Amino acid sequence: MQNLGEKCAVFGVYGTGLDVARLSFFGLFALQHRGQESAGIAAANGETIRVHKGMGLVSQVFTDELVGSLKGHIAVGHNRYSTTGGSKVKHAQPMLAAGSTSLQKKDYGDTSPSLLDSVSLSSAPDDGAIAIVHNGNLPTTEALDAFLKEKGIDTAEFSDSRMMVEAIAVAMREGSELEDAIKKTYSLFTGAFSVLIMSKDKLIAIRDECGIRPLSLGEINGGYVIASETCAFAPIGATFLRDIEAGAMLVIDEKGVRSEQLIPANPKMDIFEFVYFARPDSQLLGKSVYEVRHNFGVELAKEYPLEADVVIPVPETAIASAIGYARELGIPFEMGIAKNRYIHRTFITPEQHVREQGVKAKLSPIVEAINGKRVVIIDDSIVRGTSSRQIVKMLFDAGAKEVHFLVASPPVKYPDFYGIDTPKQTDLIAATKSVEEIEKYLGATSLRYLSYEGMIRATGISEDLLCTSCFTGIYPIDIGDRAKEVRLT
Ligand code: 5GP
Ligand code: MG
Repeated sequence: MQNLGEKCAVFGVYGTGLDVARLSFFGLFALQHRGQESAGIAAANGETIRVHKGMGLVSQVFTDELVGSLKGHIAVGHNRYSTTGGSKVKHAQPMLAAGSTSLQKKDYGDTSPSLLDSVSLSSAPDDGAIAIVHNGNLPTTEALDAFLKEKGIDTAEFSDSRMMVEAIAVAMREGSELEDAIKKTYSLFTGAFSVLIMSKDKLIAIRDECGIRPLSLGEINGGYVIASETCAFAPIGATFLRDIEAGAMLVIDEKGVRSEQLIPANPKMDIFEFVYFARPDSQLLGKSVYEVRHNFGVELAKEYPLEADVVIPVPETAIASAIGYARELGIPFEMGIAKNRYIHRTFITPEQHVREQGVKAKLSPIVEAINGKRVVIIDDSIVRGTSSRQIVKMLFDAGAKEVHFLVASPPVKYPDFYGIDTPKQTDLIAATKSVEEIEKYLGATSLRYLSYEGMIRATGISEDLLCTSCFTGIYPIDIGDRAKEVRLT
């Protein structure tokens, strides 16, 4: 299997009379922060499914004309984020598969290596096409692999998402309806998945038993939308209804919406969604991401009340935490670092040297807010320490007298296998260095992390409803052989 770390966005819409492709475009646009590598939309008109996908941002992949060419009453969309694996359109989603025997081995052209930047695909009317979009990652695909091989399918070039859609399509070719095909194959999926599957007349959502990646349901003009985050609803005029249950299958078709539990739920949403990934205007597990981040700052202030002249956030993710810290202690808050609005997340570049350049392209100091001051700088997390180190230097270069680095989450010591794609454990600075050593490496006057208890308290959510693996090394869903990559520290 191709080993890809993916932390993506999924979007789906069902509704007669809705311009589903345009809604998907704007939905994906609101979810751009979850993935910038590729984007795609598939739409079904009751007969065929048409897909367009390509490398780059949503606005780069789609023209008005292309959006207009995707017609129908059901659509799914995807933004992909990855740091490893080829940046190739073959990994872009939605992925199509044929669920009918009449066109057994239909090759949709996106499974073979391709240097194309974009592809448009169209299913035949009678090949029972299905399309999939997946947010998450399956750390172990042993069972899926064995199932597909037994059916004579070569999985060598397959990603985890491609394996999932092929497995469902195989069950359909053996005579199952889409819903039954999903039920039959669901137990083969071991890992984190918030997945949408569409056929020419149904939109279906499934989530893993822990609901590690978020997924919410909304309503729009008599139709329904599903999105990775609730921030996608308001921009398209939809209203939030509820989160989709962990372990459930939700089906939307002409009969309406129904939900069925496929496995007992063991809810554990990834706390890193609150720390870093989600947009501040989203609600996760009923909590405002902005408020939770603000609380991280308040907790930090209680744990480490520093004497300082100014509190500065590393934009954007740490802004709410820095406001919380500054307000709690009555220290002036300044946007002392400017961020170029047109740059996307620097982790997108796998090579370290490019990433080092990336920080300067992205962030620059505002000398007037820094010069001669005792600065508290707050970031949401430290992963490799590369950007944090440059930020400390940047602040001293701008004339800071002291630079106190505060982190609005605990040390990230363990790799992620559920779709965030943090680097391997040895590249996580907190896995190999103590806080004192990291402080030295950063060159900061002092370095403090929020405590684990403080972080949990700030969410207002019970610890056992959260996946905390990157901080604790506790992985709630089997990670198979990849457990060998983890050393408890
Ligand atoms: P570091 O100092 O470890 O090089 O970088 C820390 C920064 O990376 C923080 O500002 C944080 O917002 C960001 N970050 C944390 N996790 C991720 C991630 O999974 N992807 C990306 N693109 N950035 C991340
Ligand atoms: Mg950041």
